[in-house]
Amino acid sequence: MDALSYQRAADVDGAIAAAQKPGAMFIGGGTNLLDLMKGGVAHPQTLIDITRIGALDRIDTLPDGGLRIGALVRNSDAANHTFVRTRYPLLSQALLAGASPQLRNMATVGGNLMQRTRCAYFYDTAFAQCNKRAPGSGCAAIGGFTRMHAILGASAQCVAVNPSDMSVALAALDATVQVSGPQGARAIPFAAFHRLPGDRPDLDTTLRSGELITSVDLPPPAFSDHAHYLKVRDRASYAFALVSVASALQLDGNRVRTARIALGGVAHRPWRASLAEQHLTGRTLDEATLREAAAAELAQARPLDGNAFKVGLAQRAIVRATMLAAGMQANATGDTA
Ligand code: SF4
Repeated sequence: MDALSYQRAADVDGAIAAAQKPGAMFIGGGTNLLDLMKGGVAHPQTLIDITRIGALDRIDTLPDGGLRIGALVRNSDAANHTFVRTRYPLLSQALLAGASPQLRNMATVGGNLMQRTRCAYFYDTAFAQCNKRAPGSGCAAIGGFTRMHAILGASAQCVAVNPSDMSVALAALDATVQVSGPQGARAIPFAAFHRLPGDRPDLDTTLRSGELITSVDLPPPAFSDHAHYLKVRDRASYAFALVSVASALQLDGNRVRTARIALGGVAHRPWRASLAEQHLTGRTLDEATLREAAAAELAQARPLDGNAFKVGLAQRAIVRATMLAAGMQANATGDTA
């Protein structure tokens, strides 16, 4: 590892001031950053430890009935919080689908938002070509092993996917990311927080230099009755998603008043399935309509040589997750994810 300096921040303003140093990075749980440092992918010159900022380790209700989850709240604590479990079950399910109990006990909500892709070429510095790690160097994944890579929204520069489960649920719930920085505080709608790769795959988010995530705000609960997070992966636990679906509904009988669907494991950011949502809105919910909605969303997929299977998998996962959200019987072994 490289030589670096360490500084512990007592409050948000102190952390932001310390972050003005060149090469400074914030560290919370460190469950991703330390791996990146040990692997020679990240090279911070100063680590600013924010874990003692008590104001960021809280869950509070908001005046509008929503919920503010501090950036330093551990993933386990967020998932098991009474309000999250009862009012935002989609988020609780997604959090508990991520990583392992040990990692969830350590990882923070803010850090979860900031975790980097698990593209193997990004982590393996023996591969010189990675536009995310070394801008302008190329992309070793394109033409390489792409089973885990993107089918939606990729670019000729990068085909990596965002690995977060939590973020898929937050995308469906229309969360807001609160940040503070040298120019003050601002609120970032969740859909505008993570980026598609375009020609700057080195940038995962729209955070500005020196900005610190302070909380994630949830709107008043509207999907506590009908929500389901489905994660399809190679083994039952401690694996990243091949495809995941966060599905939440408001129903009038069996007619869809509102549909919220987001996908994980398919794009550089959590993918809001807007076309599928539009197709479902106002319709009677049945399997045939769900298949049409899923097909409409995935019609825009551009799979790579190694991941064409994800297109059908994502469609079946949308159907199954949404049926489960609605309380419909979903085929457990057959035409499902
Ligand atoms: Fe790097 Fe992105 Fe290519 Fe992976 S897909 S090697 S992260 S540029």
